[in-house]
Amino acid sequence: MTTTRTNKGPWTHRLLIYFFTVLFGVLIYWLLGFAMRDIGTWPGPRYAEVEQRLGDAQLTQEAGSLQSQVAEANRAIGSRKQRQTVLRDSTSNSEKTMNQLLELQKMTLQKGLTASGDEGKVLAESQRLFLANQAKYQEMNDQIAALDEQLLVLQDRQREVQLKLDAQRPAIQAEYNRLNARHQFQLAALKLAVLLPLLLLAGWLFLKKRAGLYAPLLHGFGLALLVKVGMVIHEHFPTRYFKYILIAAAIALVTRVLVYLLRAVAFPKLDWLLKQYREAYEHFFCPLCSHPIRRGPRKHLFWTRGSLKKLRVPNTVSPDVDEAYTCPVCATRLFEECSACQRIRHSLLPACQHCGTEKEVQPPGTAATAAPTGSQY
Ligand SMILES: [Zn+2]
Ligand SMILES: [Zn+2]
Repeated sequence: MTTTRTNKGPWTHRLLIYFFTVLFGVLIYWLLGFAMRDIGTWPGPRYAEVEQRLGDAQLTQEAGSLQSQVAEANRAIGSRKQRQTVLRDSTSNSEKTMNQLLELQKMTLQKGLTASGDEGKVLAESQRLFLANQAKYQEMNDQIAALDEQLLVLQDRQREVQLKLDAQRPAIQAEYNRLNARHQFQLAALKLAVLLPLLLLAGWLFLKKRAGLYAPLLHGFGLALLVKVGMVIHEHFPTRYFKYILIAAAIALVTRVLVYLLRAVAFPKLDWLLKQYREAYEHFFCPLCSHPIRRGPRKHLFWTRGSLKKLRVPNTVSPDVDEAYTCPVCATRLFEECSACQRIRHSLLPACQHCGTEKEVQPPGTAATAAPTGSQY
């Protein structure tokens, strides 16, 4: 009966073991994450490169030169407009001075006085400046008009070039997408080449050592790997495929659990089996077919699980209580002679109630139940 005597330790210790198992798993997951990220830095295709290789190089060059020419024209127009503003200020200043001087001259003439030579000189100077400014302003206007014309031509050409570039873009984009998809696939393959051998190792270790002392380490390691593999698959393969992989894994897992449960019921572990036998003996039922064990004072009674408590057992102890007993329905031996003390003991419980001699209790269907290793009665 070694299975019931394994030492599980105090609950604080068990809790700590769970905690550190989880921590171990998380750390392994991180470590794998770092490795995956480093693999992920492997450079992929660059759009500019693909464009240079597939696109019309002359067209691209022209587009670049057109862009700088347009910028230059805009800049020239801007600077001329700025100079015009300055000229406008200067012109309006001269205009004001001229008007004031003319006003002054008019007043002097009205009073019958002659204008001084200085005033005449200033007036002439203002007039000269005014006219010069006007001429410059006009010149700027002409230049701006010419530049505008040039800009329109450049922009027309730019539009044409842009249309041609747009026409060749889908092909470039398709090629880039193809290269990128290939790169992603290679990355995924590389990552899985690292992860899958580890996963196989974890699976092998799990199958070999899952009942061993260091099983929690294996659980943490295996679970972290499983999650990481799932993440890598999800990251690199379209969700369309991923959902099938995920559902297949889930079905496999659920099937495994179901099979385990079904087997546990069909081939119960010794602990459960003993519990079931013990309860059946306590209620005087055959542990295998649930037929009442009618021996001793209950020899002439009948009961079910419901009527057991109300059953009135005759108080007389008949002398033939201690005799071997076999279930009349399923032919399972339930009470037998002890091989050590020769008194009657339970056939399906581990120890003799009189002398304590232990014997192997085996699940039904194995040889021991049909022909137990005790003495034959
Ligand atoms: Zn039976
Ligand atoms: Zn005994």
